[in-house]
Parts: sequence; structure tokens; C-alpha cells
Amino acid sequence: MIKKCEHTGCTKAGTCRAPKSRDLKEYWFFCREHAAEYNKNWNFYANMTADEIEDDWERQTFGAPLRDKQSANQDASDYVKFINDFINGRSEFDRRPAPSKTPGPVVSALRVFDLTPAATWRDVGAKYRVLAKKYHPDTAHNIKNAATEFTKIADAYEILKKHFGKK
Ligand SMILES: [Zn+2]
Repeated sequence: MIKKCEHTGCTKAGTCRAPKSRDLKEYWFFCREHAAEYNKNWNFYANMTADEIEDDWERQTFGAPLRDKQSANQDASDYVKFINDFINGRSEFDRRPAPSKTPGPVVSALRVFDLTPAATWRDVGAKYRVLAKKYHPDTAHNIKNAATEFTKIADAYEILKKHFGKK
């Protein structure tokens, strides 16, 4: 037997289910029209206390309710200290000068050694030894433009030497 629509005074068949409460255990049976009207007006948070609504929001936002209110209050002073430290740390951070950009000639010199501005003096030295050996005029008889390459490498090395504060 088909239930009648549970909307007061409606005589149509109640073929559509609508949840009575948030736990979705009980349902109204409405006709299509009244189900649509009910769903439109259904308030998910109806019959919840403000704390329950907050917990639910926290569960949806953070995956779980935040610490229960009582212990949260106990730890409030810690929390305030944490926030203050964070804010102070932040302004300290903001005051620090931005890391100076690597000057263009240094970047170009590093590029000669196939290095990025993150390279260390050690990286430069290692690459320099390999390339200087490869392009040295005494040994690079079979490489075209070896002398030009060698000059480029030597110039780049000088720039980087100065940049890294080496003598
Ligand atoms: Zn109805």
C-alpha cells in the first residue's frame, strides 16, 4: 500500500522521501511537489545548538572538531602566546631585507659553467677544472674555437672568484 503524502491536507501518493532530521534515520513521505518544497526549506542545522553547529562546521572544515571547549579555554593563554609569537616572528621576517638578487654578470658567468645562482664556490671550482682542461690551448688542438672558449671560461672564473670573495 502506498502511503499518502504527509503534508497536511494533501491527498496525493507519498512517493518521495525527505529526511526528518540530520541523522537521516527517519523520513517523511511526500508527494513530489511537497518533497521539493520541504527540501528547499529544510535547514540542515535545525534543532542544533550553536556549539553543535560550530563542531559540525569544524568537522567539515578541518576533518574533526577542534579541541573541546573546556581544554581550549585552559590552553587559551598558550594559544594567545603562540599567536603573539607568530605575529612578532612575522613582522621580524618582514623587516629582514629581501635576499639580494644575484648580479647579472655573475649569473652570466655561472651560466658559462652551466650553474645556477644556487651554486657554491666548490661547484664553480669543479666545473672550472673540467672545462679549463678541456679548452686549454696547449691540449685542445682538435676543438674549434678552443682559445675563445678558454678565454670565456677564464673571464667567468675571475668574475666568480670576486663574487665568492676568493683571491
Ligand atoms: Zn503532497
